[in-house]
Amino acid sequence: MPSDRILILGGTRDGREIAEVLVASGRNIITSLAGATQQPLLPSGALRFGGFGGVEGLKSYLKNEGIRLVVDATHPFAAQMSSHAFEACGAGEVLLLRFERQPWTAGEGDQWTDVGSAMEAASVLPSGAHVLLTTGRKDLEPFFARSDLSGIARMIEQPAAEPPGNWFVLRDRPPFTVESEVRLMVENGITHLVTKNAGGSATEAKLVAARERGVEVVMIARPTKPDVPVFASIGHLIVAVEGVLSP
Ligand code: NAP
Repeated sequence: MPSDRILILGGTRDGREIAEVLVASGRNIITSLAGATQQPLLPSGALRFGGFGGVEGLKSYLKNEGIRLVVDATHPFAAQMSSHAFEACGAGEVLLLRFERQPWTAGEGDQWTDVGSAMEAASVLPSGAHVLLTTGRKDLEPFFARSDLSGIARMIEQPAAEPPGNWFVLRDRPPFTVESEVRLMVENGITHLVTKNAGGSATEAKLVAARERGVEVVMIARPTKPDVPVFASIGHLIVAVEGVLSP
């Protein structure tokens, strides 16, 4: 009888919600966290921390731990982990499903410039822009390299390198409210918001605030991830999990 053990690649609120539902239904799960966040919000069930050591490391892990199904619930921008999971799962040896929230789309009143990377985002900002930068600590370099930009770089963890004097690092974690986002933008004279298209409700307030305040948005498009069954609803994902694990 094959194992029914599930590995959830987490690090997101969605991953925590998926773990909670599967634990409640008695499934044998383990969630993996990259270990980059110092005080992560922890999901229900068993946990492991840290990288696997590339594709080969993940392959060995899946074999040694008797994993039958991997649920990739990483952030839409965690492209490397998703691609490693695709390669390590091989041609159907270990099943792989992905959860991915719907991306945000521009609506009436939004002033968005769509770009393909953080590098491009930095290049389209006009000289003198006072920016609310919410790209995370890995993508700061192209913005910090431009001495004609300034603003607030918001992130959960302290960045590895000291920011230049025209930038202030604000350490905070979602969820945020529209009121607090408006206050942050108004009090700091923000002219531009730079964000990855993460989707989801926990960080959407900044987009509503930008619309209300006429702040221009530079939206970084998601990277392409491997072609596997993708679910944008946790309910649908759980149905699929139960479907593939049923005898
Ligand atoms: P990444 O660039 O795709 O992954 C880099 C490496 O980190 C992977 O090759 C893997 O190391 C390790 N890793 C990533 N996720 C892991 C996990 N869940 N469990 C074990 N190892 C993991 O990903 P990232 O952008 O660094 O993101 C790291 C984590 O933060 C992810 O879990 C993601 O969901 C979360 N996150 C990312 C963002 C973002 O904007 N990128 C935002 C919020 C949360 P090995 O090759 O050694 O296995």
